[in-house]
Amino acid sequence: MKVRLFDSLTRSLRDLETAEPGVVRMYACGPTVYLPAHIGNFRANVCWDVVRRTLELLGWRVRKVMNITDVGHLTRDDTADGGEDKMEVTARKEGVDPLAVAQRYIDRFHADRRALRILDAEAYPRATEHVPGMIALIERLVARGHAYVVGGNVYFEVATFPAYGRLSGNSVDALVAGARVEPHPDKRHPADFALWKTDPSHLQQWDSPWGRGFPGWHIECSVMSVELLGTETLDLHTGGEDHLFPHHECEIAQSEGGRGVPFSRFWLHNRFMNVEGRRMGKSLGNYWTLDDLVAKGFDPVAVRYLLLSVQYRQPMNFTLEGVAGAKASVDRIRGAVRNLVEDPGAPPLAPAEAGEFDALEEGFRAALAEDFNTSAALGKVFDAVRKVNARGPFDPAGAARVRALFGTFDRVLDVLREDAPRAGGAPDSAIDALVAERQEARRARDFARADALRKRLDDLGVVLEDTPRGPRWTRR
Ligand SMILES: [Zn+2]
Repeated sequence: MKVRLFDSLTRSLRDLETAEPGVVRMYACGPTVYLPAHIGNFRANVCWDVVRRTLELLGWRVRKVMNITDVGHLTRDDTADGGEDKMEVTARKEGVDPLAVAQRYIDRFHADRRALRILDAEAYPRATEHVPGMIALIERLVARGHAYVVGGNVYFEVATFPAYGRLSGNSVDALVAGARVEPHPDKRHPADFALWKTDPSHLQQWDSPWGRGFPGWHIECSVMSVELLGTETLDLHTGGEDHLFPHHECEIAQSEGGRGVPFSRFWLHNRFMNVEGRRMGKSLGNYWTLDDLVAKGFDPVAVRYLLLSVQYRQPMNFTLEGVAGAKASVDRIRGAVRNLVEDPGAPPLAPAEAGEFDALEEGFRAALAEDFNTSAALGKVFDAVRKVNARGPFDPAGAARVRALFGTFDRVLDVLREDAPRAGGAPDSAIDALVAERQEARRARDFARADALRKRLDDLGVVLEDTPRGPRWTRR
C-alpha cells in the first residue's frame, strides 16, 4: 500500500519513496539529557513510534536511529547560536560530572519510553561518542568554503548556502529583522552559526584542529544520522516544529554544504502540544513528566493512547480529563476482545459480515497510510468494537477473525496488553529536585514560581513543611 506523508520541505503530501525499495532509513532528533523528558517531548516520540509501526504494518523495513544529545545544546536554542551548554548548566548546579547527568536522564528517558511502549530504535548514538566524525565534517566545510575560523571558533557562513531558510520559510534578512539572530563581532553575518567552539573552561572538551573545545548541537545530527544509517541521504528525518529553525535548517546547510547531496528525502514535523490549554512551562506548574502522571494514578498506556489519538500534524491540548477518557477508550477496546464469546454452536460469519470486518481492517491501514491519520484509524477500531459488542457469540473461525483484526490494530496502537500494576508515586529523587527548585525560587524571591512548585508537590501527594533547618517533606 502506498504511503503519503506531508513533507515539510516541499510543504506537500508526497508518496513515500526511498533509496532502497522497501527499506526506510529514519532519523529522529532525540532528547538533550539534562532534565527529565516532559509529556510534550513524548508526544513527538509516540508520533514517530506510530510512523515506524505503520510503515512496518504496511510491509516496509524501518531502520530507525535516534540520537542522544549530551553536549553542545545551548540554552538559547531558538536562536541560531546562543547561551550556555544545557548539560553544563545542570552539571555545575549539581556539582557533578556532565556524564553523570547524562546517564541519569538517559536511563530515565528509556524507562519512560518503554512504559509508553515506544519500540527500541536500532541505535541511540550519543554525541560525545561521535566527535571525530563531527570534526571531519567541519574540516570539509572549511575546505569547501562554507565555514570560517575566528579565534578557535568555526562558523558556518549562511551566505554560501542559498537554500538556508527554505525549510522554515525564513529568509536570512527576515531572521535578522526579527531579532532571532544577533550581530556578533566574530561573525561575517549575524545568522552564521557555530560548528565548533574552542573553550578550555568547558567541562566536556576535545582536541580539534582549531583548539580544545566542543561541537555545536546542529553538527551532531548531521554526523550521527549518516554514520549510523550508512547513507548520506536519509529517507525520513523527523522532529518537532520547534526544530524547523534553527536546528534542521542548520542540519541541512551543513550536511548538503559538506557532502554535496540532499540530506533527507522527507521531513516530518509534529505540532506543539499545550497542557491544560497553556504552553507548558516550569513556572506554570503544568510541566509534567510521565512520573508525575503515574503519581496521579494514570496508566502509561492511557497516556500513550491519548498522545497518539491526535494526528501528529494537528495541535493538541493535553488534559488530565483527556487521560481519564483515554483510559476509558483503552478499556473499551480491551473489553471487546476480552468479552468476545466463542461458541462452536454459534453461526459462522455471513459473507457480508466478514466483508465488513475486512473493510475495517483495510480502512485502518488506509487511514494510517494517508499521513498517519490516527484519529481516522481509531474510528475504524471503534466501528469494530461496536460490531463485536453488538453480535452474540462467534463460532471459532469468526472469533479467530475478530482476534486477528484487533491484532492488526494493536501492531500500531499497542494498548491491548495489560501491564503488571506499578507501585505509584514519583521517585524520591524527583521530589527532592522539585523541593530544591522551590527553595531556589524562594531565594530568588520568585514567589509565583515557588507557589506553582508547591502546588505541583501537593498534587504529587507530598506534604511540605518549611522548618528553620530547611524544607522537609513526607508523602500523604
Ligand atoms: Zn537533530
